[in-house]
Amino acid sequence: MEYFVNIVLPIPLERHFTYSITPDEAKILVPGMRVSVPFGKSKIYTGLVLQIHNIPPEVYEAKEIDQILDEFPIVNPIQLQHWEWVANYYMCTLGEVMRSALPSAFLLESETLILRNTDADVDESQLKDDEFLVFEALQHQAVLKVHEVSAIVERKNVLPILNRLLDKNIIYLKEEVYEQYKPKLVKYVKLGKEYLSDDALETLLESLSRAPKQSQVVLSLFQLQGNSQKPISITDLERYSNSSKAVVKALIEKEILEEYHIRKDRVTYDLDENSSIKNLNEYQLKALKDIQVSFKEDKVTLLKGVTSSGKTEVYVKLISEYLEQGKQILYLLPEIALTTQLITRLQEYFGEKISVFHSKYNIQERVEVWNNVLKKVGKAQIVIGARSSLFLPFKDLGLIIVDEEHEGSFKQFDPAPRYHARDAAIVLANLHRSNILLGSATPSIESYYNVHHGKYGFAEINRRFGNVLMPDMELVDFKEALRKRKAKGHFSERLLEEIEESLVNGEQIILFQNRRGFAPVLECLTCGHTPQCSNCDVTLTYHQYKKQLRCHYCGYHTALPESCAACGSPDLDTKGFGTEQVEEEVRTLFPDAKVGRMDLDTTRGKHAYEKIITSFEQQEMDILVGTQMLTKGLDFRNVSLVGVMNADSLLNFPDYRAHEKTYQMLTQVSGRAGRTQKRGKVIIQSYNPYHQILKQVTTGDYDTMYAEQIYEREQYKYPPINRIIKITFKHKNYNTLNEAAEWFSGALRTNFGGTVLGPEFPPISRIRNQYLKNVLVKIDKRESLGRTKRNIKRIEKSFNSISMYRSVRVIYNVDHI
Ligand code: ADP
Ligand code: ZN
Ligand code: ZN
Repeated sequence: MEYFVNIVLPIPLERHFTYSITPDEAKILVPGMRVSVPFGKSKIYTGLVLQIHNIPPEVYEAKEIDQILDEFPIVNPIQLQHWEWVANYYMCTLGEVMRSALPSAFLLESETLILRNTDADVDESQLKDDEFLVFEALQHQAVLKVHEVSAIVERKNVLPILNRLLDKNIIYLKEEVYEQYKPKLVKYVKLGKEYLSDDALETLLESLSRAPKQSQVVLSLFQLQGNSQKPISITDLERYSNSSKAVVKALIEKEILEEYHIRKDRVTYDLDENSSIKNLNEYQLKALKDIQVSFKEDKVTLLKGVTSSGKTEVYVKLISEYLEQGKQILYLLPEIALTTQLITRLQEYFGEKISVFHSKYNIQERVEVWNNVLKKVGKAQIVIGARSSLFLPFKDLGLIIVDEEHEGSFKQFDPAPRYHARDAAIVLANLHRSNILLGSATPSIESYYNVHHGKYGFAEINRRFGNVLMPDMELVDFKEALRKRKAKGHFSERLLEEIEESLVNGEQIILFQNRRGFAPVLECLTCGHTPQCSNCDVTLTYHQYKKQLRCHYCGYHTALPESCAACGSPDLDTKGFGTEQVEEEVRTLFPDAKVGRMDLDTTRGKHAYEKIITSFEQQEMDILVGTQMLTKGLDFRNVSLVGVMNADSLLNFPDYRAHEKTYQMLTQVSGRAGRTQKRGKVIIQSYNPYHQILKQVTTGDYDTMYAEQIYEREQYKYPPINRIIKITFKHKNYNTLNEAAEWFSGALRTNFGGTVLGPEFPPISRIRNQYLKNVLVKIDKRESLGRTKRNIKRIEKSFNSISMYRSVRVIYNVDHI
């Protein structure tokens, strides 16, 4: 009898591929194992076995596989089912899901570039002959392709050798120049070496008798230390001894104290009272009960709790329940919120049981987490991760928590699969028969809609923990402020007063402006010309710090011109403002304050994001200016004031979700103020302070916001009332694009009638020299989504058979556009 396997390859082709195998191989192979296979003329790919059978392919002769790469499956049947769902729902191929789901170290192929890991300590005597040949070759040549390795070891199948070298950390792969993710460093102090004996200590205290402040610090260190070996952070010491930074610094300089750093996630905590799980207050308990009841009915459940209401502590209780049952737990977070703040907090409770899965992790670390989850080892019983952690090989998943479920960054826009992690998590929970909790202070309209329609369970916490008041919100009419000359630059007098007061009180301030750079537009005062990007249809943003004009879409940049390119006039002015300008103004207005900035430009470098957060947390800065990066679940203790520089730019965004997003963003950034006893203050500047969304933000009136947004979505047939699929066409030739989009939308209209909108150019109609055009298909809830998608795919097939259109890229975004 003949044997065959169906294999999925990590490429964007619809089909799976059938290869022939020997009867022996058929006995070994199980779905979910990897094999290396020849493809096309000379390529080798790593593929994943889907099925073993006896039916030869009809239209081609099956090739033989090269080699079996695994001893046991690395992907389980539930995962394959989940991938199928993702591929179908988001209209991409299984291969694309596979490429995105598996760590790329699992997917060696002939085109993969291999480099030597120059940091590795290699013991050459431990290498097998073939491994040594590759290692040696990499001493002479920086990069090798897989097929070149084949030539070197004179063998066709080299993937096993490369897998071994990867395991041993001797090589790495070119696509993987990921930054090594490094959790933040915390500054700690201990007594200097010379003072460790009792005698030396006594002498020290005597010598300090005339420096009462310093001796106070030393004594405090002792009291804090007690009998434990627990590290003492500088911040704790300053607070406890009631002393200033300068005093501690002086002691460090005298070498009486010694400063050291520990990676925050490497600190081992004594299991003292700090790390036992907190007792919930009555409101948290009520929420927990409601969640448990709803879980019993197997319902997806939404926890809506105002900022700082203690949602995280509720999650912690739930996690420990499932932990006791021996289940796996997945804690999903938006990428940017993966701060060590939260990780540390959970580690204090659950210690070693937590693994973090982060796109900034390097290839080995990600493979390690994958394998730990696969083998269900204790270290990975709880996984905290961004959206891609959905694809880990969970076996016995009991609970999924989607924190900040409203966050747009759960949606992957590029490349395919263009999936939404919250929605894909709900499907995953269903496949595992596990429970799933969505949490947010500002739930997405669709989740709240599902609560209203009885589809989801619901729990709520309406007040902050410890009776801390919600911040006091104030709207400032900026037009009025300008008219009455009560403004300096982009700061109203009200905002300036509040900043002043916070600074005097030694409290910190966050200033939010959702635009980076100095100004989004440079304009010639003589002729009105504004410099545009040559690759994209946008104005160039002025970055003063680098004296450049930059495109935020393709990265193009050029030196700041001294005169207008159109008329030669030197009178150039800027329009609008970004974080750089806010930073510059605030430095001029408050020359004594220490000011920092957090946006894409300041967080590019290695660990820059962590550094800024740590430094702000440790109060090395008074004022932090930033973009929406600041809004994500950060817990700063000493921030008393949040200033929103200009709310209007959020409201005017051309997107049916703009109002919802504005509400969420402003509420979240306001939530950073006053998280401890003293009531926080928020000032929102706007040219349009009577806008209903701003009113709803200041009164915390989520329900009215929801009702109005739902009304609008009903009117205009947007989700969650209708379903939508956005089809984007992309091509470098303007005419080809127009014709292609016309043809496609024509065919759609014949099928679906009036629910097809477009084709239309998006607000930015050209990016990286590719023109873009969108078509929107709105689908009534009563229609079958599956059938609609199949119809669209059918149309795409005919479209692709027209040779002129074949080079036009067709991109689908389902639900979240
Ligand atoms: P959220 O996640 O809703 O923003 P957090 O869980 O961060 O709120 O809680 C806000 C603050 O209140 C945190 O500093 C947290 O440690 C504290 N807190 C919350 N619940 C409790 C509790 N039951 N006991 C003691 N402290 C709590
Ligand atoms: Zn000009
Ligand atoms: Zn550009």
